[in-house]
Amino acid sequence: MTRARERPAPGAGTRFLGVLGSPVRHSWSPAMMNAAFEHLGLDWRYGAFEVPPTRFAAALEGLRALGFVGANITVPHKEAAALACDELGREAELAGAVNTVVLQAGTIIGHNTDAAGFVAAAREALALDPAGADVVILGAGGSARAIVVGLGLAGAASLTVINRTAARAEAMCHALGEAFPKVQLQASAWEPAPLEAALGRAHLLVDCTVVGLEPETAPPCPIPVDALPASAAVATLVYHREPELLARARARGLRTMDGHLMLLHQAAAALPLWTNTEAPLEVMRAALDRVR
Ligand code: NAP
Repeated sequence: MTRARERPAPGAGTRFLGVLGSPVRHSWSPAMMNAAFEHLGLDWRYGAFEVPPTRFAAALEGLRALGFVGANITVPHKEAAALACDELGREAELAGAVNTVVLQAGTIIGHNTDAAGFVAAAREALALDPAGADVVILGAGGSARAIVVGLGLAGAASLTVINRTAARAEAMCHALGEAFPKVQLQASAWEPAPLEAALGRAHLLVDCTVVGLEPETAPPCPIPVDALPASAAVATLVYHREPELLARARARGLRTMDGHLMLLHQAAAALPLWTNTEAPLEVMRAALDRVR
């Protein structure tokens, strides 16, 4: 019987990274990142750090003090991270949220790779070219904003944001309108008639709410999947279970995508920011497939 090759134990030269979040113990990022670092021959280790909101600022300073290479930031710290970083990349600044930090000579630089990660996942899983697409986005939280930024930068024709709290969708569209003058960016009400009108001309519907994550959470009214054109695609960001919306879209024969490919592609976009090398995408995909 052959034994799997064992990685040498961490030593004095080992460098560290991790994901900061709460809750974070279920995270699949350590599996993907450690497989990638091993493949690249880097003596780097990536862990999951449970950080409550009251300790986030201290934890970020701790990374600086300990000489971490960088970190990923997840729920609920992405917006706090955007405020705490010394510098921001373009997507992070537009999204007002950071999911990746790089520590360079003591400076903390914040990036948002959720935006590009979603676009790469949609290209792969849905064969969807966002350039010229009409997209309906449900939700106006941190992930919705990152996806609006990703699709806006990728040249979407129109982005209709529909949120339970309408004022939040309006505020987001107002804040991002200037950044995307060529995109028809509009908020709409979560009510049957405007939903049907928006879905009727959509190439893609993206659910960025927590409804699929918490099945007991009821939306203001059901999503009329039947209003979508037969050529449309439906995406959610949830990856631990199949949300009802995806099951209904699949039953109608529409193309669907859950959140696991976005997780893979946001990680693959984050890694080069630390290593300056291309991410070993297939190694990371295989590691994700082993744990999910
Ligand atoms: P967030 O900032 O807390 O936003 C939550 C959104 O859900 C808000 O728009 C909120 O509307 C809406 N919502 C809550 N309850 C609702 C209900 N009963 N009916 C309709 N809408 C409701 O969360 P987030 O950071 O954007 O994350 C959203 C989801 O994306 C989470 O499930 C998260 O795990 C997932 N995610 C996945 C990835 C990935 O890589 N796959 C990356 C990022 C996030 P109101 O404004 O009205 O409260």
